[in-house]
Amino acid sequence: MLIDPAAPLRGPGGRLELARELLGAAQCVAVFTGAGISAESGVPTFRGADGWWRRYRPQDLANPLAFRDDPLLVWSWYAWRRELIARCEPNAAHYALARCVLESAGAWRIITQNVDGLHQRAIAELSGVAPGEVPDDLRPLALHGEIFRVRCSECGHAAPHLEPIDATSVETLPCCPECGALTRPAVVWFGESLDNTQLQHAMGVAEHADVGLVIGTSGLVQPAASLPHMTRQAGGRIIEVNPDPTPLTELAELWFASKAALIVPELLEGLAGLEGGTGRFRP
Ligand code: NAD
Ligand code: ZN
Repeated sequence: MLIDPAAPLRGPGGRLELARELLGAAQCVAVFTGAGISAESGVPTFRGADGWWRRYRPQDLANPLAFRDDPLLVWSWYAWRRELIARCEPNAAHYALARCVLESAGAWRIITQNVDGLHQRAIAELSGVAPGEVPDDLRPLALHGEIFRVRCSECGHAAPHLEPIDATSVETLPCCPECGALTRPAVVWFGESLDNTQLQHAMGVAEHADVGLVIGTSGLVQPAASLPHMTRQAGGRIIEVNPDPTPLTELAELWFASKAALIVPELLEGLAGLEGGTGRFRP
């Protein structure tokens, strides 16, 4: 049952302390994130009202039929988004979560709908490695793919692609090094299925978690939105951070109606040093 969101936030017995107790005692924390966690890094959510969003609906571009009909238009949209995201930096919420992932040696696991790579960049930066070198067990599960990867539209070969996309003509678009066919962004489009291995992995994490920390997702996109339900059904507790209530708020015990970068660092501060759970956290 949701603790009254109007109850005191700080101080003894305040909502922040209650949430920190839950997180500190957890052996395994699943962190479910969506576009809202990157909003303060400057990455627009799909609800934004600027640029391309005024002219096109995301579902009309992030769509296999649109790519078949007009790959240049779809790639132009992705080229613009990639440039925008390349200029963004992880924010305080990404870093606070990255620290928990690293200090818990993976007992905290991030499952994200974001394609922006900002979680991975924060983890890489704090551990002093390149983003591509983050070990698998610490790497966020990117349910909807990664915008800085491409995949062959014919043979399926996928690889990181960090260089800017030249979308001046179909001929200048990136081609597959294996078969020469046109590549596409390695993201999940409307009407497409998620990678099954990755989804099974995420479901395992969700079911195993003592606490599900849900941050910045509207809880409308399936199957991602069903993962916090799995945590709850398996007896885990839910904490949500989102300025607005969502369909997932009814699962939550604690809801922080705040921007992620403002509250998440305070919520997680010092947590990895707590003597909680299995003691899997480093002293
Ligand atoms: P969404 O756009 O549907 O919802 C964003 C949610 O974040 C909303 O509930 C909003 O209230 C909340 N929010 C806004 N600002 C916030 C802040 N500062 N702190 C915390 N919460 C905040 O996003 P979604 O649920 O992730 O689903 C949209 C789909 O679009 C996903 O499939 C995702 O892959 C894709 N997408 C990804 C990115 C990205 O990679 N950053 C950006 C846009 C869309
Ligand atoms: Zn190919």
